Amino acid sequence: MPTGEVVFSAAQIQERVRALAREINALLPEGIPHAVIALKGAVFFAVDLLREMDREVTIGFAAASSYGPNTDSAGEVRLRLDLLGEVRGRDVLLIEDILDTGLTLAALRGALRERRPASIRVCVLLDKPSRRKTRVSAEHVGFTVDERFLVGYGLDCGEAHRALPDIRAYSPEGEAASPGTEEGES
Ligand code: 5GP
Ligand code: MG
Repeated sequence: MPTGEVVFSAAQIQERVRALAREINALLPEGIPHAVIALKGAVFFAVDLLREMDREVTIGFAAASSYGPNTDSAGEVRLRLDLLGEVRGRDVLLIEDILDTGLTLAALRGALRERRPASIRVCVLLDKPSRRKTRVSAEHVGFTVDERFLVGYGLDCGEAHRALPDIRAYSPEGEAASPGTEEGES
């Protein structure tokens, strides 16, 4: 598995996730929220976060693909929303892996808003504010990071490295060709 320098260790991540869970629980209205997990990158984070929140919750999924298998967001976002679940009237917690240019989150927020939820809160594991191309933000942020491309804990590079327990700077040195796909799915 490789790859570069560890940016956040598994222990650091777990500690931050616990704090986020407390923060979100304190601000989400009472009742049963609907968590929307953005595939695929947020899966590891969402499972840990929802367990830590330790409350009744329903879940749905959204997938956002940007074109191109490499490390750059191409700007065009395609959404798949067929597993979203019923959102109307619900308190929605959207769980995303990383907020970069913001184009993905803007598209997801827009799609959710159209479905008339009672409220929307967004929780992202990582935020790269310096890369923003559109005005969008998350109510809950795990870690604010610089512009480096990161992998691990759900984050991929061409579908590789998602299962790393920590978050690392991606380093191509000495890596075999990654099992990439034509179209990068988040
Ligand atoms: P945005 O639309 O905000 O530019 O892009 C968000 C998506 O880009 C994320 O959900 C993720 O799939 C991808 N992305 C942005 N920065 C990184 C990064 O540092 N590492 C990885 N693995 N994916 C990233
Ligand atoms: Mg990705």
